[in-house]
Amino acid sequence: MATERTLSIIKPDATKRNLTGIINSKFEAAGLRIVAQKRIQMTKAQAGVFYAVHKERPFFDELTTFMTSEPVVVQVLEGEDAILKNREVMGATNPAEAADGTIRKEFALSLGENSVHGSDAPETAAVEIAYFFSGLELVG
Ligand code: ATP
Ligand code: MG
Repeated sequence: MATERTLSIIKPDATKRNLTGIINSKFEAAGLRIVAQKRIQMTKAQAGVFYAVHKERPFFDELTTFMTSEPVVVQVLEGEDAILKNREVMGATNPAEAADGTIRKEFALSLGENSVHGSDAPETAAVEIAYFFSGLELVG
């Protein structure tokens, strides 16, 4: 086991419904520390760069429109195996397939409006953290 950092985003459907605190409490209960956090509203261009891996997918425009529709909370979570642990706390992409007790099972509205984003590998975590935060903002 290794201490890792992962990039998390509390998405517009969740910030809009005032779920930031209850979602953060689930991260903390799982042993993930919030070592950086800020509330921002992305432009379409910024969201497009963040989700560039999905550029050719049919849902790309829907995804970037949604991610810019309201503020989001971007954050860095730190802990043992943080990348995988966060994905477990989040639950499956589609809330209909998410396990009981996961964030997406409890709060997601649909496959698109699924409340949280989490990095999926160490390489993507490093790139995604650097996209939103400078080293000075990461206070472990
Ligand atoms: P995320 O990257 O947000 O953590 P994920 O890794 O579980 O989610 P991805 O396959 O990377 O899932 O998809 C990125 C996001 O795009 C999903 O979380 C969801 O919001 C949206 N999305 C994925 N598939 C669809 C779809 N078929 N229709 C609409 N939106 C979708
Ligand atoms: Mg993903």
